[in-house]
Amino acid sequence: MPQQRICVIGGGPAGLAAALEGARLGLKVDLLERNRIGANIRCAEGFYDSLRLLGKPRAGLRFKVQEAVLKVQREYKVDCRKIDLWMIDRSEWQRSLADQAWEAGARILENMRVTVDTLRDLQREYDWIIDSSGVPSVTSLLYGFRDYYRRYGAVTAQYVVEGDFSKLGERLKFVLFPYYAGYYWIFPKGRDATGRETANVGIGYFPSKRGREKRGDILWEELNNVLEREKIEGKIIRRLGGLAPVKLREQLRYGNILLVGDAAGCASPLHGGGIDTAYVTGQLAARWIASSREYDFSHEVWRLLRRKLEVEERLCRLWERLDADTLDHFAGLIARDYRSIGIGWFATHIRMLLGNLGTGIRFRSGLLKGKW
Ligand SMILES: Cc1cc2nc3c(=O)[nH]c(=O)nc-3n(C[C@H](O)[C@H](O)[C@H](O)COP(=O)(O)OP(=O)(O)OC[C@H]3O[C@@H](n4cnc5c(N)ncnc54)[C@H](O)[C@@H]3O)c2cc1C
Repeated sequence: MPQQRICVIGGGPAGLAAALEGARLGLKVDLLERNRIGANIRCAEGFYDSLRLLGKPRAGLRFKVQEAVLKVQREYKVDCRKIDLWMIDRSEWQRSLADQAWEAGARILENMRVTVDTLRDLQREYDWIIDSSGVPSVTSLLYGFRDYYRRYGAVTAQYVVEGDFSKLGERLKFVLFPYYAGYYWIFPKGRDATGRETANVGIGYFPSKRGREKRGDILWEELNNVLEREKIEGKIIRRLGGLAPVKLREQLRYGNILLVGDAAGCASPLHGGGIDTAYVTGQLAARWIASSREYDFSHEVWRLLRRKLEVEERLCRLWERLDADTLDHFAGLIARDYRSIGIGWFATHIRMLLGNLGTGIRFRSGLLKGKW
C-alpha cells in the first residue's frame, strides 16, 4: 500500500502528538505551524494527565505539584501527591516534541499559516488532514462553525508576572466563584535557567449565563483586582487570554479532515485544562488513520473521553447550583477537611450529597487513578 500522506495544521500539543505518532507509525507527515514552535503559547502551564495515558513530561518539567490551595471563602490545602499534575514550561516541552517528531521522520514547517483557501488545496493534495489549529480552527472557517467556540468557550485573561512567589512555593492556587461562574488561578513556575521567577496569574469564566455578563474589558479589570487582592507585586511581562473550548463537538470529521484538541472542543468543562486531551486526541487521529478505521473517528474520540466528560458535566451542573457558602463547604470536602464542615450543613445538604455520591466517587477515582 502506498505511504499515506498527512498534513497536520498547528504545532501545539495536539498537532505535535499527531505528527510524532503519525511518523512513528510510518505515515508521511507534514506539520504546518503559523508561528515558530513554542511561540505565543496561551496557557497557565499546569499539565494534568487526567486519563493517565501520558505520564511524566520528559522535557520542560518545572516541578511535580505536591499541594494545591483551594479557596472559596476559606483556604483549603489539597494533597496532590497522588494526582498526576506537573508545572511545565510548555515552550520547552513543545520544542522537544517537535525535535522528536522530526527525528521520527515528520517534516515540521514553521511560519506557514494555513488559510481557508490553502485548506481546500491541502484537502486535494493530502490523504488526510489533522486540524489541530486551536480556536477558531481553520476548518470552522471553511465549514461555517466558528461561532461554536465562542458559544461553548470559557473566556480567560492571564498575566505572566515576574516577581517573588516564594510564599506560595510550588503550590498552585485556585479561587472558585459560586454558581459555576469560573475561577482565578495563581500558578508559580519557579525559576528558569536565567534565575528569573515567574507565575501565571489568570481568570476565566465558563460559558454560563452568569459568566457571560462578565466579558470584555471587565475581565482584565477583575484580573487587576486579583493582583491587588493577592498582593502580587512584580513586573507583568506578558498579557494573554482567549477561549478555552469546553464542549466536545459531536462531528469531528469533515471529509478528509479530522478535528483534534481545542479545535475539537475538548478542553475540560470543569476547569478548562486541555493540554492532555489535546495530546491524546492528536495521537488518536494518527492511530486512526494508520489503522483499519473500522469505526467513525468522532465515535473513537467520544469513546476515549465520554466517561470523564460525563463526570465533569455532572459536577458542573452541581457547581451551577452552589452559592458561596455551600461551595466553600464542598471545597472543604474535596480537601477532606471535614472539621471545617458543620453538622448542620451536612443535615441540610444530605439529599444533595447523596444525590451526587456516585459522581463524587467517580471524580475521586478519575483524579487519583485516571479511571472515570
Ligand atoms: C489562559 C489559558 C490558560 C490555560 N491553562 C491551561 C493549563 O494550565 N493546563 C491545561 O491543561 N490547559 C490549559 N489551557 C488550555 C490549553 O492551553 C489548550 O487546551 C491546549 O493548548 C490545546 O492544544 P491544541 O494543540 O489543541 O491547540 P493550541 O495549543 O492552541 O495550538 C494550536 C497551534 O496551531 C497554530 N495555528 C493556529 N492557526 C493556524 C493556522 N491557520 N495555520 C497554521 N498554524 C496555526 C497555533 O499557532 C498553535 O501553535 C489554558 C487555556 C487558556 C486560554
